[in-house]
Amino acid sequence: MRQLEGKTAIITGASSGIGREAARLFAEQGAKLVLVARRRSELDRLADEIRDDGADAVAVAGDVKDADVARDAVRIAIEHFGGLDVALNNAGTTGAQIPLPEMTMELWHEVLDTNLTSAFHAAKHQIPAMLARGGGSMIFTSTFVGYTVGFPGMAAYAASKAGLIGLMQVIAAEYGPQGIRANALLPGGTDTPMGRAVSNTPEALAFVKGLHALKRLATPREIAQAALFLASDASSFTTGTALLVDGGISINRT
Ligand code: NAP
Repeated sequence: MRQLEGKTAIITGASSGIGREAARLFAEQGAKLVLVARRRSELDRLADEIRDDGADAVAVAGDVKDADVARDAVRIAIEHFGGLDVALNNAGTTGAQIPLPEMTMELWHEVLDTNLTSAFHAAKHQIPAMLARGGGSMIFTSTFVGYTVGFPGMAAYAASKAGLIGLMQVIAAEYGPQGIRANALLPGGTDTPMGRAVSNTPEALAFVKGLHALKRLATPREIAQAALFLASDASSFTTGTALLVDGGISINRT
C-alpha cells in the first residue's frame, strides 16, 4: 500500500529543490498534487513528468505572497481532486544576507511575506478544506536557522522561519481535536539552488558541510522523505513538533 494513496496534497515551492523532490515522492506514493510556485514552465514540466509516471498533478503559477494564490490552490484541489488532505507549505527565500542595520523595510517584508505571511494565507484556506475532509496534515518548511543556530546576516530569514513554528503550534492545538495535524520540518543544509547560493564558493561549501555532524549536505530526497513521514499516517501521533532533519548541525561542535 502506498503511503499517500487517495490523498490530495498542495506543495508550494514545487518548481525546485525540496518541493520538487517532495512532489515526485508524494506522487510515487499515490498522492494527487497541486503544484505552486512562480515559474509556470518549471511547474508544467514537473506536472508532465508526474503524469508520465501515471500520477496526477495540476500547476498553479503564482506568488505565495498573494492571498489569492493560496485560495486558488485550495479551490483547484477541491475542483480537480475532490478535497485537500495534505499541505506542504514549503516555498521560501533567504533574502539578502546583510547586517541588520542595513536591512530596508522592503527586504524585511519580502522575506517575512514570502516565508511567514504566505503560511498564514495558506492556512486560512487549507484549514476549512481539511476540516471538510475530517482532518489532514499541514507541514511548514522552517529551518534550524533561528531555532537552534543563529547565523549572522539572516535576521529576516530566521525571524520568519521561527515565526512559522509558532504559527504551526497554534494550528496544531486549535485544530488537533478535529483531526488536523500540523508540524514544522527543519532541514539542515540541503543541496538545492538555495543551498548552493548560500555556499557559492568551494571554501563556503566546505565550511557549511563541516558544520554538520555528517559532514555533508542533505539531498533533496532525504528532506522529502521526512516530509512524506509528516504527510502520511506513519506520523499519525505527531503534531505540534519542530522536526529537525539537519545532519546534526544543531548539536555538532567539531
Ligand atoms: P529552492 O530550490 O531555491 O526552491 C525554493 C522554491 O520556493 C522554488 O520552487 C521557488 O519557486 C519557490 N518560491 C520562492 N519564492 C516564492 C514566491 N514568492 N512565490 C512562490 N514560490 C516561491 O530552495 P529549497 O532549498 O528547495 O527551499 C525549500 C524550502 O526549504 C525553503 O522554505 C527554504 O527556506 C527551506 N530550507 C532550505 C535549506 C537549504 O539548505 N536548501 C535549509 C533549510 C530550510 P519559483 O522561483 O518558481 O517561484
